Amino acid sequence: MSSIIGIDLGTTNSAAAYMTEQGPKLIPNALGESLTPSIIGLDPDGKLLVGRAAKELQVLHPDRCTALFKRYMGTDWKAEIGGKTFTPEECSSLVLRTLKEDAEAFFGKPVPQAVITVPAYFNDQQRKATIHAGRIAGFKVERIFNEPTAAALAYGFHEAREEKVLLIFDLGGGTFDVSVVEIFDGTLEVRASSGESFLGGEDFTRTLAARILDGQGQPFERAEMEAPRLVARMIQQCEVAKCKLSRQDSVTVRIADRKGDFNEQSPETTITREQFQKWTNHILARIELPIRRVLGDTNLKRTDIDEVILVGGATRMPAVIDHVTTLFGKPPHRRLNPDEVVAIGAAVQAGLIARDESVQEMVVTDVAPFTLGIEVTKEFGLEHRHGYFLPIINRNTTIPVSRLKRVGTLVPNQTELAVKIYQGEGRRVEDNLCLGEFSVKGIPRGPAGQSIDIRFTYDLNGVLEVEATVVETGQKFSHVVTKHARGLNVDQVQQAVKDMNKLKTHPREDSANRFLLKRAERVYQELSLEGRDLLTRLLDGFEEVLELQDKEAIEKFRKTLKDFLDRHDAGEDSISDDDKDDWYTP
Ligand code: AMP
Repeated sequence: MSSIIGIDLGTTNSAAAYMTEQGPKLIPNALGESLTPSIIGLDPDGKLLVGRAAKELQVLHPDRCTALFKRYMGTDWKAEIGGKTFTPEECSSLVLRTLKEDAEAFFGKPVPQAVITVPAYFNDQQRKATIHAGRIAGFKVERIFNEPTAAALAYGFHEAREEKVLLIFDLGGGTFDVSVVEIFDGTLEVRASSGESFLGGEDFTRTLAARILDGQGQPFERAEMEAPRLVARMIQQCEVAKCKLSRQDSVTVRIADRKGDFNEQSPETTITREQFQKWTNHILARIELPIRRVLGDTNLKRTDIDEVILVGGATRMPAVIDHVTTLFGKPPHRRLNPDEVVAIGAAVQAGLIARDESVQEMVVTDVAPFTLGIEVTKEFGLEHRHGYFLPIINRNTTIPVSRLKRVGTLVPNQTELAVKIYQGEGRRVEDNLCLGEFSVKGIPRGPAGQSIDIRFTYDLNGVLEVEATVVETGQKFSHVVTKHARGLNVDQVQQAVKDMNKLKTHPREDSANRFLLKRAERVYQELSLEGRDLLTRLLDGFEEVLELQDKEAIEKFRKTLKDFLDRHDAGEDSISDDDKDDWYTP
């Protein structure tokens, strides 16, 4: 195997994969699953839960959990859970650490290196924050890699002999990312990327929950403030219902009470796929603008796209597949599981980096997702007007790239110049994001217009370095932009490593049991009295054998409990008497 693993650090789910001689393979987590929900939670006893167990905890204790933190990477946002605060880097590091531990348990040896994927439109701050998250988790981050490029690699398009233009359509839980990837001469190049960081499957789920609650005379926004447990419960129910509607024509959803509990009188409502699609059509319509943007940036027509690849769990919705088929006049590729494609591609890239012989040598290039430049002052007659944006690297330029622009001093005898770095598409800097600033000093006195060369260098990890040279003296001012490297400095990363290591976690071998207990607590609240009685006995027995550390009995109880919960979640309530007898005699 390749010594580096590939990781898809997703908004809703994460996954890890590795390269073998037979090709890339997914790494199962402690529950034997390939997807680990990107959710962290703190047990009432202060122990950390990550993944499925945290997702179950979230239904009953949304205040003890945090999710969707990838949206806030590189910002000052903080999650507060169970009285502790976590930065987005720390939250992500906990997910990465879990994946690392799962990989180490799977291989039976340390796994120190990783390739981690990010959306192509992630800016420098977000990429840096992802590197920091990896370091806090104990990884040496070999490469930050764009998700659409990974998807193209997963489908083996890098091996295609002919030139092709691919469109990668990635609708995940919380983000939408669309990219044009071109293949030529064995090179894979992301020509353009666009997207929305607040559009994904969760929006479909929330809209469904909102419509159902509205239909019950409980406006969603008010319920969110006044009855958060009801909302958390309905979101969990609606996510299951939404996924079922990808396979069946209608689904029944039970409505919890204001505490988020169910009882015999809990009302039910039936939703058809048609109704769901009508309610969510406005969300689907939002995919069109980013598509128009990438096609515009690459001067391509829809008919120029040779292949469309679907990525992200939300592309399982039939309405999405139909819409994409209509837009491009051809069915998209969906042979691989859309939620595993990126991790698979990351493993291919990891194999490339480790020079694994099973992967052909190739060059992978990427693009700068935003225009990068500096603030300049313009002269209109006698008047100087500040605040204009001078682009230096244009959006969707292939990286790595280094570009130079010459600027001049504004007034006679000006010895100092402030270089303010911005990213964005606005003509005026106030519409763009300021990444940082630094000063150029020691400019020789003289008339206005003394030359300063500003060089922007953008590397494959999306890290930007700005260098200013006073042309007359050759003096250079090279700058690491602090805000753009924001998040954490070296000391802060080390401190975060210590803080995160202090957090107590359940032993990994306990994960499956921990998850089952959390799941059972959630299901308990959904059951009738008879069901609760049965589940209580089953749970009491399970906790007892856990306490006794009786491995065989634990195994047996775990299986029975899992069957019970599976049947409940599949909507089958009947429990045979034989089963009941089994439970009491582990
Ligand atoms: P990802 O971030 O790629 O893991 O995608 C997660 C999103 O995909 C979540 O919003 C899920 O609810 C959604 N999803 C997963 N499976 C399905 C399905 N069968 N039908 C509809 N949405 C799905």
